Amino acid sequence: MNAALERMEQFVDEGGAHLVATVNPEFVMRANEDDQFARVLETADLCLPDGIGVVWAARRKGCRINEPVAGTDMVPLLATLCARRGFRLFLLGAAPGVADELAAKLRIDSPGLEVESYSGSPDPADDAEALKRIHDHGTQILLVAFGHPRQELWIDRLKNRLGVSVAIGVGGAFDYLTGRVPRAPAWMRRAGLEWLYRLRQQPWRFRRMTVLPVYAIKVLTSDQ
Ligand code: UDP
Repeated sequence: MNAALERMEQFVDEGGAHLVATVNPEFVMRANEDDQFARVLETADLCLPDGIGVVWAARRKGCRINEPVAGTDMVPLLATLCARRGFRLFLLGAAPGVADELAAKLRIDSPGLEVESYSGSPDPADDAEALKRIHDHGTQILLVAFGHPRQELWIDRLKNRLGVSVAIGVGGAFDYLTGRVPRAPAWMRRAGLEWLYRLRQQPWRFRRMTVLPVYAIKVLTSDQ
C-alpha cells in the first residue's frame, strides 16, 4: 500500500496522465475474452492487486507481492496524501449523492483537502459535463467508480483530455466507504472468502461470480 501511494505521488510530481487499475480475478477473466480491456490493463501505468485472489496467483507466478492493495482501503489514504501535498482530488461515479456524501466525509477526516464530486455516467453523452467539472476543479487525482470494465475504458478513452495526473478505477469503493454496502470482515478477506460475503449481501452477483472457480483452476493449471 505504501509503495502504491508513493508511486501515485510520483505520478503527480512527474505530470502527464497515468491510468491506475485495481485488478481482481473478475478483471483477469474479463480480460481473457475482451481484447480492448486486456489492452487497457496491459498499458496501464500501474496495476494493483485488489484482493487475495490476485496476490495468490501472482505469487504462484513468482511475483513478489506482500499484500493486497484494495481500492476501498486506498481511497482514505489517498485523501490524506492529497491533503498533505495539496493535490486536488475528484470523485466521479456511483449513484447520485454517493460521491458527494463521501467527499463531505473525506473533507472532515482530512482537513484542508480540496475534493469535488459528481455522479456522472460512463455514457459519452455525459463526457462534456464531467470534463468541465474536472477541468474547473483543476483535478490532479481522479477516482472513477463506474465498475469494471466501464471505468477503465472510460479513463482510457478520455485519458488525454482529462488533464489529470492520475485516474484510478475504484469500482464499488464509494458504496463501501459511505456504508451503503457492508464490507466483508478482514479475516474473511484474508482467507479469500470476500466473494462469499458479497454473495450473501448482493445475491445478484451470482452470475458474475461463476468466473471465480474458473479463475482458480486456470491459475492452478497454468505453467509457473
Ligand atoms: N456505476 C455507475 N454508473 C454506471 C454503472 C455503475 O456509477 O453506469 C457505479 C455503481 O453505482 C457502483 C459502481 O459503479 O458504485 C460499481 O461497483 P461494483 O462493486 O459493481 O464494481 P466492480 O466490481 O464491477 O468493479
